[in-house]
This record gives sequence, structure tokens and C-alpha cells, in this order.
Amino acid sequence: MVKEFQSSLADARKMDELDDLSEYRTRYHIPVQKNGEPIIYLCGNSLGLQPKSTKENVLQELTDWENLGVEGHFHAKNPWMPYHEFLTKAMAKVVGAQPNEVIVMNTLTVNLHLMLVSFYRPQGKRVKILIESDAFPSDKYAVQSQLRFHGYDPQECLIEFTPRPGESCLRNEDIKEVIEREGSTIALILLGNTNYYTGQFFDIKQISIWGHEQGCMVGFDCAHGAGNVPLNLHDSGCDFAVWCNYKYLNSGPGGMGGAFINERHLNSEGIPRLEGWWGHNKETRFKMRDAFDPIPTAEAWQLSNPPILSMVSAWSALKLFDEVGMERLRRKSIALTAYLENLVKSLGEEVINIITPADPEQRGSQLSIQVKNAKKDLFNTITSEGVIADWREPEVIRVAPVPMYNSFEDVFRFYDILKKAVSE
Ligand SMILES: *Cc1c(COP(=O)(O)O)cnc(C)c1O
Repeated sequence: MVKEFQSSLADARKMDELDDLSEYRTRYHIPVQKNGEPIIYLCGNSLGLQPKSTKENVLQELTDWENLGVEGHFHAKNPWMPYHEFLTKAMAKVVGAQPNEVIVMNTLTVNLHLMLVSFYRPQGKRVKILIESDAFPSDKYAVQSQLRFHGYDPQECLIEFTPRPGESCLRNEDIKEVIEREGSTIALILLGNTNYYTGQFFDIKQISIWGHEQGCMVGFDCAHGAGNVPLNLHDSGCDFAVWCNYKYLNSGPGGMGGAFINERHLNSEGIPRLEGWWGHNKETRFKMRDAFDPIPTAEAWQLSNPPILSMVSAWSALKLFDEVGMERLRRKSIALTAYLENLVKSLGEEVINIITPADPEQRGSQLSIQVKNAKKDLFNTITSEGVIADWREPEVIRVAPVPMYNSFEDVFRFYDILKKAVSE
């Protein structure tokens, strides 16, 4: 049965008035439609919007480079030499880690490979990698290529968590069962901590425990988790995690990635690493000595000196997360997504089916809405009405009202447009 749920634009506006984060919307550039109205931007899970502070901060670095040249490494307003350190604390807070466990560097898939070098250590009959059957394609390519790199056949050595027939999300008891059954041959478990397609948010602590009981390494791709859900990476006990900053974290197209390495693996003899000069002891980095002397934190995994023009956008955006805090964002996110869920469900089960879990503990901002028998035309219609969302064949619309800059009014307007489109 579908719950009766009635709401109006006036109700949505009332909720925005009561929302203590509504002011943050004004700190971002919201794209506008041809008619001058703001776009209903529900795609922050794909590319987050630009903070208004970013341009000025980027210009600061360009100006310092203009005026100082190489001297900017020490004398820029924000010296480039230790630049990555400016981001670490705020980044660690977002993902629930200790600052020594976190590094903002490279991009996501690059970081995933670097972590696989360290944490995929096949030995004896423990050689397999376990991932989700609907893992993000890049993650799948990364693990397949690592398997081949180590001389294994992905056909045999890549095993997958698959939902039950007719279901889209994975059940906890099934995850446990696969890990217990296959554990002795699994070297590494890699899961998207929040699945990009279904929006399912996994219990990463529980999965880490199950994996470790079987002697497996456990890592998470938090591309859809960072800045969206409470991650508590340190407390989860997982071995490593990677993410990008351009989805919920608004660092701009192709923006910086991040990595988490559990404290117990820092400075650990058994964990090899690909190395470069920016991972070397800062005191002696420029002495160009022979032996690599790793920084005793996640910084040891840094290869190159960081791209300042990309780092500055990530930093600008992180400052806003630091100001608001994940707890407040999460509180609003739960309310905003519940509002969207109630509105969409009122369209009726004959018309829509939400494949994202109904339990707020098992999801973040995103809802993946299956519109039964819909064609891409339907999506084109809502796009022409000013909605930016994401279409996945065969008939799923992914929408993510993000608490940082989306309003209850955005959610209501989306629903109103969808309702008209499905009734046509
Ligand atoms: C967005 C996303 C990526 C993208 O990888 P890039 O290296 O940033 O291009 C990879 N994996 C997942 C799970 C994603 O959601």
C-alpha cells in the first residue's frame, strides 16, 4: 500500500524557513535555466556545485604564481610546499579518520591502484578479490587489471556479491555468507561503501569484521560516501579507503581524490608501496639522498608534488564542510531524502519503485527511482522542465538532494515535474 502523502510548494517553503542550513545554498553558484529560474540540481552525487569562494581562492594562487614564481613554494599566502597539509584535518573529519590516516592526492582510480598495490597481496590459495556485481565500471577494470598484473585470470579470481533474483540491493546476511564461504581464498574485499547505482549504504564496520575474521584485507570505495554519509573510517577498522572530492565534496570536474590508510598499516614492514619524493621525510626531501625515508603517515603514499590549482578548489569546498560538520548535514539529509521519498511514493506503486533501501541507516542522499516502463523521453521531459538528474538504462532516475545546497523547494518542484511527466 502507498501511504497517502500530501504536500504543497508552501509546505516545502515552510520547511526551508525552518532549516538551519538553508543559508548555505547562497554560498554556492546554482546554475540557472534560460527563463532565469534556478535549475533543480539533483546531481551533486555526480558533480557537486561550485562554492562561490572557489574562484577567489584559485585567483589567489594564480596571483602568487604571477608575482612570486618559484618563491611561491615558501612565500605564497598559502605556501605550496606544505599545501596538502592545509586540507588534511578537514578531510579527515569528513571521512571520520585520524589526520595521520588521510591524504588528499591524485584522483580516485589512481588512488585505488596505489592501494591495491599495497593491500592486494595474493599468496598461496588466497588470491581472489571479492567485489559487488554492480560495482562502478572503473573499479571493476582496476581490480581485473590488478589480477592480470599478478598473473591471475579475472574469470576465476574475481568473485562477486550478487543480489537475490528480483532484488537490487545486497542483504547483510548474504554478504556474511559469501565472506564465510569463500573467505579462505579471498585476499581482498572491495566494496563501494555507498553503491553508485542503488544508493545502498553498507555497514562498513560489520563487513570489515567479517572480512578480517576470514583473514582478508577489506577496502572501500567511498566515492558516493564521502561528504554524503557518516563514514567513521577509523572506527570501522577497514584497511583502506579511497574517494573523489568532486561528487558530494564539490571540488570541481576532475578534482582531487583522497585515500585512507588505517593507522595499523602506517610504517608497517609487510605493506609495500609505490613511492615518490613527496612521500619522503620532509626534512631531507631536497637532500636527494639515496634511501627512501617515508613520512610516518598516509603522506608516505604521495608520489608527486601536488597540483596546487586543483588542491585549492578541494580546499575551498572542504572549508564549508568543516564549518557545517557532517552531523548537521546528515540530519538535514535524512529529512530531505525522506521528504523526496514520501512525495515520490505518493505517485503509486504501479508507476514507481524506489530501489534504494527504505531504511535511512542504509542510504545517503540518493534515491534511485525506477519509473515503470519509462523511456528516455520521460527523462528528457523532466530535463527540459529544468531538472538535472541522472538516467540509467533501462528505467532508473537517480536523484540526490544534497543537504549543503538543495532545498525542500527543489525536492517539491522535482516531484511536481515528475508527476506531470508520468501522467502524460
Ligand atoms: C565516480 C566514481 C569513480 C570515478 O573514478 P575517477 O578515477 O574519479 O574518474 C570510480 N569509482 C566509483 C565507485 C565512482 O563512484
